[in-house]
Amino acid sequence: MIPTDLLEAESAFRAEVRDYCERELPARVRAKVRAGLYLEKQDYLDFLHSLIPRGWVAGHWPKAWGGCDWTPMQRFIFEEESAVGGAPWLIPFGISYVGPVIFTFGSAAQKERFLPPILASTEWWAQGYSEPGAGSDLAALKTRATRDGDHYVINGQKIWTSYVQWADWIFLLVRTSEEARRQQGISFLLVDMKTPGITVRPIKTMDGCHHVNEVFFDDVRVPLSSLVGEEGGGWKYAKFLLSNERVIAAETGKSMRQLEHLNTMVEAGGDRPDEQAVFRRRIAQLQLKLHALRAFCLQAARQMDPAAPPGAEASIMKIRGSELQQAIAEATMEWLGPQALAYDPAQVNAERAESHAGPAQTPGFIREYLHGRAATIYGGSNEIQRNIIAKAELGL
Ligand SMILES: Cc1cc2nc3c(=O)[nH]c(=O)nc-3n(C[C@H](O)[C@H](O)[C@H](O)COP(=O)(O)OP(=O)(O)OC[C@H]3O[C@@H](n4cnc5c(N)ncnc54)[C@H](O)[C@@H]3O)c2cc1C
Repeated sequence: MIPTDLLEAESAFRAEVRDYCERELPARVRAKVRAGLYLEKQDYLDFLHSLIPRGWVAGHWPKAWGGCDWTPMQRFIFEEESAVGGAPWLIPFGISYVGPVIFTFGSAAQKERFLPPILASTEWWAQGYSEPGAGSDLAALKTRATRDGDHYVINGQKIWTSYVQWADWIFLLVRTSEEARRQQGISFLLVDMKTPGITVRPIKTMDGCHHVNEVFFDDVRVPLSSLVGEEGGGWKYAKFLLSNERVIAAETGKSMRQLEHLNTMVEAGGDRPDEQAVFRRRIAQLQLKLHALRAFCLQAARQMDPAAPPGAEASIMKIRGSELQQAIAEATMEWLGPQALAYDPAQVNAERAESHAGPAQTPGFIREYLHGRAATIYGGSNEIQRNIIAKAELGL
């Protein structure tokens, strides 16, 4: 039995987030998110700046570092309710990924130097983990950092690096030695993107937009103070970060918003009564799956120890959340039918004032469908998440 005062506090917090979305989230950003359009850096900045007065940029950080000490439940409620209210994804690379690594494992100087600009959104980060040949098998990474006096010299390549075109800094997993166990030779570095020798090459994804990149490092010299924790200890920090990555992957708020859009379109489709009946059944099935996922997330958030890494629950949320997003997007495409065949990426970059669901939003729905294909890959593919569950729960 859950104490009623706890439930009341959760409902009150949910109401606060709803109030923020209605009154403080920039209307232009909300309209773009609801229409499924591509967001520019300025859109994300406007969103982040609107969170600063409430101290919500990094609410899950400890108060000592400018956060609000949110419980896992408060964090879940914020992410769900803000997505329902039309807020964008809180780009996680600084706030949710490297920030917690720095305040948990970094030096005092690194904490002082890097945490305040993340909170103020004046410095942006990118995640340099994956390489060609080292995605699921991350320990196979080959980018090397060799000591030369009081510097490391980095050579190698990263790939699929999200939004590094906007980043001031990148955190890197690099090989600093060839040990018997591959994981022992990996270190975690913080690298200024302005350092000479770094080249960024964009990769256009099938939605025609610029989300990801290749990053090349040619004799990039960084000071030894760029190292987080111990040399060779990077695998531990990398795993700590990945567990935080999966915890935010259910994206139930986004699914709620997108399913509501589909429902609105289907309910407006009275001229197609036979299809309407079929789609009402399909929506009901999707709603049931969404309810089940939300119930699972709420229970997991209530039981989660913020100080301990999440268990297989995070992998379950990632699998079910990404599959559901794809199922909703597919149903949307099928309802749109022939309208969903033509797609011009230029249309998803346009400003749109309208935020209601309807044919005018078709390009945005197609973009979300196309980009959503990646949801079962990024953050660790769903096959890898299934391996994690098998190992943790079945001992395989
Ligand atoms: C849109 C997008 C954004 C990304 N952003 C970033 C980023 O910002 N920073 C970053 O570092 N990385 C990023 N990634 C990379 C992402 O983490 C990797 O794509 C992912 O881990 C899979 O690695 P891979 O692409 O090398 O595929 P591979 O590891 O080559 O896998 C190919 C296929 O084989 C399957 N497979 C592999 N090994 C196993 C196994 N042991 N058991 C069962 N099946 C297996 C996989 O599930 C997959 O289906 C991003 C990827 C995408 C698509």
